[in-house]
Amino acid sequence: MKIYGVTGWKNSGKTGLMERLITHFTAQGLKVSTVKHTHHGVDLERPGTDTHRHRQAGAQEVILASSARVSILHELRDDDEPRLADLIDRLTPCHLVLVEGFKGASHPKVEAHRKATGEDLLARSNNTIHAVASDTPLPDIDAPVFDLNDTDAIATFIARATGLAPRQQTKLANDCFALPPGVTWTPVDDALATLKDRLAPVVATENVAVASATGRILSADHHAARSNPPGANSAVDGYGFAYGSLPQTDPITLPLTDGRSAAGAPFSESVPPSHALRILTGALLPEGVDTIVLQEDVHIEHNQLTFPAGIKPGANARAAGEDVRKGALALPAGHKLRAPDIALLSALGVPDAKVFARLRVGVLSTGDELAEPGTTANPARTYDANRPMLLSLIESWGYASVDLGHIPDDRDALQNALDDAANKTDVILTSGGASAGDEDHVSALLQDTGSLHHWRIAIKPGRPLALAQWKSTPVFGLPGNPVAALVTTLIFARPAFSVLAGGSWLTPQVITLPAAFTKSKKAGRREYLRARLTYDGQVEAFKSEGSGRISGLSWATGLVELPDEAAEIVPGTPVRYLPYSGFGIT
Ligand code: AMP
Ligand code: MG
Repeated sequence: MKIYGVTGWKNSGKTGLMERLITHFTAQGLKVSTVKHTHHGVDLERPGTDTHRHRQAGAQEVILASSARVSILHELRDDDEPRLADLIDRLTPCHLVLVEGFKGASHPKVEAHRKATGEDLLARSNNTIHAVASDTPLPDIDAPVFDLNDTDAIATFIARATGLAPRQQTKLANDCFALPPGVTWTPVDDALATLKDRLAPVVATENVAVASATGRILSADHHAARSNPPGANSAVDGYGFAYGSLPQTDPITLPLTDGRSAAGAPFSESVPPSHALRILTGALLPEGVDTIVLQEDVHIEHNQLTFPAGIKPGANARAAGEDVRKGALALPAGHKLRAPDIALLSALGVPDAKVFARLRVGVLSTGDELAEPGTTANPARTYDANRPMLLSLIESWGYASVDLGHIPDDRDALQNALDDAANKTDVILTSGGASAGDEDHVSALLQDTGSLHHWRIAIKPGRPLALAQWKSTPVFGLPGNPVAALVTTLIFARPAFSVLAGGSWLTPQVITLPAAFTKSKKAGRREYLRARLTYDGQVEAFKSEGSGRISGLSWATGLVELPDEAAEIVPGTPVRYLPYSGFGIT
């Protein structure tokens, strides 16, 4: 547990600072406890209440417990006032203990200071005070001086001093999507490297029952709480004995001991040397058994077991912890839980998983021409295909999708929608209006907020991708065209969301396969073709590269990625095939 103190004179603002620090650190997913010193005798309860009566009657410690909280009241009477260290020992383990008061104790502290108190700084004479949080500048102090209200700066100082790693980065740097000056067309790999470098988890952490944690991302390393298997046991149904006590004969004959060892019902006595015991699969090996002969390989007559010589020492026995030892790393932080991982954690006695809260991804469509599928026959209207596609993709990635609806090409409506979205989502995915044309309101609005960065990525399909922050919530502005919207989502949004959600940067699965098509490609941008596996393991490309051809997306089983450079593809040329399944499209 890390310990840091807040001290100061009366009315210096120390409790307010404590309060803000507690809020700050708990919002980062840290468990925080506090110890507060006071000079006068305090009573937490009114005279006449039950606990007061218990104490008055002479109880040394009284515990008041309910489903909401537990209080321990310890009467000191003639005992000495406990030292801070003893008090901290009583706390349930947590990440950070913030101590208010105790200015004479040796732990490092920040001093809260308000000029109006008229008191001189404690920091001048107390060298356990490592920083001051003051409402006025203090140029003559030999310690860092923070603005009393700049909680972020004070918390960062404390986190650095204690070596506390932040569990959650709540805000990305304001300019996290800026491209280096002079960059116009960005190669796909550079764009990906920039995203990878700038993003960090934006979600809090929580505890979830392992049984319902499928798809969640671990926020901490998880270790085995018990070994697997927990005890040495039999891998087969058969007969167990001590290998070292076997007679040197062939065949071998052993008298059978009465009783048996079954899974969940072990044999509690020991098996004498040169004797055998009936033992079933999964049963603990009793004392005196280290080797098991298969029941199919024995003959039993008159309570005597006979089997051929040649069995190996330890045959058919599983050692305790041979799979995973208690305390070993079971799964690392950042791992996304799948059904087999649920089995592993359950077997290792880990009932609850520490996970990141589900990333909330908001999806909105823009464009006056859009209509809900099936609501109009007017050929001037386009049915909104992106929003249901993106919502479905986000759900299959294990994130919480938030349907932000369809917004017309109207600046105020869009502004309201983004305000609303910033409150209830962690990242916003828009489609349409992302270019720089007259009706590209997403672009125009984000431009005015000062945080828009058009990424002219050298990719086909996919016109500029708009990356921005709206009130510090990242916004991915996708092209409206569904083919381009899907490709840019798979290539850019998928790995980015994984990092925002606390997971690792994801790269697509690539299988190099012979092409079943012909294509001549110029240098300058990377191309993604809608592609499908043929029955004989080649990849064919969709008949049209038209970016409006949604049918090709559905026809495909994946994408073919053609390099930034020029390429001449003929049947048989090896190409990079990226299956949909590798993008989590199922
Ligand atoms: P934009 O990027 O807004 O210029 O849109 C480019 C093309 O994609 C236009 O033909 C739009 O009608 C179409 N489009 C935009 N959003 C969607 C959507 N949500 N679903 C289907 N098509 C769309
Ligand atoms: Mg549009």
